[in-house]
Amino acid sequence: MNYVSTRGIAPSLTASQAILQGLAPDGGLYVPEEFPTLPCAPEEMKGLPYQEIACRVMAPFLTDYTEEELRGCIDRAYDAKFDTPAIAPLAARGGLVYLELWHGATIAFKDMALSILPHLMVTAARKNGVTDEICILTATSGDTGKAAMAGFADVPGTRIIVFYPKDGVSAFQERQMRTQKGENTAVVGVDGNFDDCQTGVKKMFGDEAFREAVGKAGIRFSSANSINIGRLVPQVAYYVAAYVRLLEEGMLQAGEPMNVTVPTGNFGNILAAYYAKRMGLPIGRLVCASNENKVLFDFFRTGEYDRNRPFVLTTSPSMDILISSNLERLIYEIAGRDAAAVRERMAELSATGVYTITEEMADKLADFFGETATEEEVLAQIGRVYDEAGYVIDPHTAVGSVGACKFLAAFPEEAEAPMLVASTASPCKFAQAVCEALVIDADGLDDLARIDKMAEVTGIAIPAAVEEVRTAPIRHSRFCAVEEMKQTVAAILGL
Ligand SMILES: *Cc1c(COP(=O)(O)O)cnc(C)c1O
Repeated sequence: MNYVSTRGIAPSLTASQAILQGLAPDGGLYVPEEFPTLPCAPEEMKGLPYQEIACRVMAPFLTDYTEEELRGCIDRAYDAKFDTPAIAPLAARGGLVYLELWHGATIAFKDMALSILPHLMVTAARKNGVTDEICILTATSGDTGKAAMAGFADVPGTRIIVFYPKDGVSAFQERQMRTQKGENTAVVGVDGNFDDCQTGVKKMFGDEAFREAVGKAGIRFSSANSINIGRLVPQVAYYVAAYVRLLEEGMLQAGEPMNVTVPTGNFGNILAAYYAKRMGLPIGRLVCASNENKVLFDFFRTGEYDRNRPFVLTTSPSMDILISSNLERLIYEIAGRDAAAVRERMAELSATGVYTITEEMADKLADFFGETATEEEVLAQIGRVYDEAGYVIDPHTAVGSVGACKFLAAFPEEAEAPMLVASTASPCKFAQAVCEALVIDADGLDDLARIDKMAEVTGIAIPAAVEEVRTAPIRHSRFCAVEEMKQTVAAILGL
């Protein structure tokens, strides 16, 4: 199985090479040259542990990894870092089936991919004769940096350096990062905003002389961002595992379809569900749920992608996105894998912020359905789900829950199939919004006290990850000015 760029100019690569490369040199995203089929029917996977299902789903994508290598990566990723052996358990509540993707180290869905990516990368380096240490450089607005650090912490052959805006993250997020364990992790508070951090990191990637100096020390910079195919492939596995669990529960018979709703930002998670469908998993409709930044909702309704609009800050910040990078992979598929058609549209997007698809392309989107939720609807849904089903959901999951309910109201006949909703964060991660929705008085409390109050009122368990932030000692106390980022990296790497 080789990987080709959606822009069609960069040469094709093996899976491990594509994982090492990240973004293709022509600006495109790597996609499998064809969709593999599931190696066995879902009903034959009943009773298997998550790790085994993941191995069967990922193997046909990662054909240059030996089975032993892949198993090693999976076993090191999906271990006791997760607080349940089910890894991604289901919760059938209020007529929907929530797929809980937040049982990992940072209690949000990015752990599903970032806990395995470091192992896939190190294995890829070994396979391709790269002996350099891999150093992940990343800027974060709070969550992704922590999830990446948790994944890379103490993975031999890797280091990670995370920059965050010193006054631009919550006190809880800062504490989460500054208590991060791992001899190979470094965290730096920058005297600037998130854009400054991101620009600083981009400059280092583009600084040939600096890369050369770093290379002489046996270190190679890399990024862990969400367009890496090594983040997408592991996400396909949990949709297959969810289907298998529904069979086990008797909520589905072999071959019957399930529908899927995904609260969406960068379009990675829902694209993984589409890949699962293309592999032959019986998925009916794919409901793409947006918050008030509803570029994708409009796109699915009109066929026009238009990022020219005000950026709205919502209670689901991980979905506050106007350019959904992974959508390019879907455009490539609906364009009949015509890379020129993709190049044209991506050029329009960067020049004008708008592109449209042809009617023929739109016809291939029949399985997708866009929905959107206002802030008011999100808070009301958190309240309703708790009142009616005794289940507490976070604002991102609530966007999905609203989307699923709107879809089912519009197409009542679809209610025959189970509706899976990707639950992307623990309510503890967004306690402020949840307290507001449930009318829990938490005014004047800090994040940790607010979580305690919410747990006390609702009876939900506080994840170990939260307790750890409370008690772990501060390990990182580096700060720098925007123009000192490069020197700071040099100092951390001992250059
Ligand atoms: C990243 C994230 C999303 C959006 O996922 P995409 O793959 O970017 O669409 C949704 N919810 C949470 C909690 C996230 O962290």
